[in-house]
Amino acid sequence: MEKVKAKKKYGQNFLKDDTVLSRIIQSMPKNNNHIVEIGPGLGDLTKNLVKCKDVTAYEVDTDLFTILKTKFATPIENGSLTLVHTDVLEAWDKQKSLHDSKYDLIANLPYYIATNIILRAFEDDACEHIIVMVQKEVAEKFSANERDKEFSALGVISKLCSKESRILFDVPPESFDPPPKVISSILYIKKDMSKKMDKDFNSFLKACFQQPRKKLSKNISSVVPKETILSLFEELGISDNIRPHEVSSSLYSQIYTKAIINGRKQNSTD
Ligand code: SAM
Repeated sequence: MEKVKAKKKYGQNFLKDDTVLSRIIQSMPKNNNHIVEIGPGLGDLTKNLVKCKDVTAYEVDTDLFTILKTKFATPIENGSLTLVHTDVLEAWDKQKSLHDSKYDLIANLPYYIATNIILRAFEDDACEHIIVMVQKEVAEKFSANERDKEFSALGVISKLCSKESRILFDVPPESFDPPPKVISSILYIKKDMSKKMDKDFNSFLKACFQQPRKKLSKNISSVVPKETILSLFEELGISDNIRPHEVSSSLYSQIYTKAIINGRKQNSTD
């Protein structure tokens, strides 16, 4: 077959390393969940996934979609593969969940929207595990611990909404065609299905980490009045000098509840 030219605008770097492919397959949870793949590309990972479980794969690129339809005609016909031709973020806007029963997201993600996709997977109630290839820096943010210098809004969300979040292994640029300019990592997240991600909490965290090296009280003052912050910090025993990465996830949750949620309730009764 003629070599397919990778499209930069869709973040296309095709994984060509069989060892990496089999390590991804080995890291799949042993459960009965469906699998969702985002960006099957030329189908190298898809081919391995359909051998194990039923898969739904979302691909935005029309050229690749056409190739995949021919390449996977048999699994599509027998129902073990469902190929969806769409932008996955639009699919999430329309249907809230990428599958109607519990699923694990397993994918080599397009890096330009990887963070967004992981956040959407946190919001998707049907998604239980997220096992994805992303840029190493992104994986470090989602798996960071409190007080690590990489600890950010993404780390807080990950800590509060997952039971486990860690990097399984790194993947060098040579494992792809064309090679990306960055090192990649496989990120493993087991969500805590009893927790719900709140979009407003996410926006609050963005404000908290807006200037990561500045004082947290300064960052929060863009969304909460300064006097409220000072009395809240005193009540919770937090120093006014504390920096955003030094605060634990549970403390962020308490600050949000007391400053934003209780503030909203107060306003509605005034
Ligand atoms: N899974 C393949 C592999 O491992 O070789 C390809 C991975 S490549 C890094 C990312 C894939 O995501 C490409 O196939 C690209 O066309 C697709 N993609 C990019 N943006 C997308 C979007 N918004 N919705 C669905 N697929 C997308």
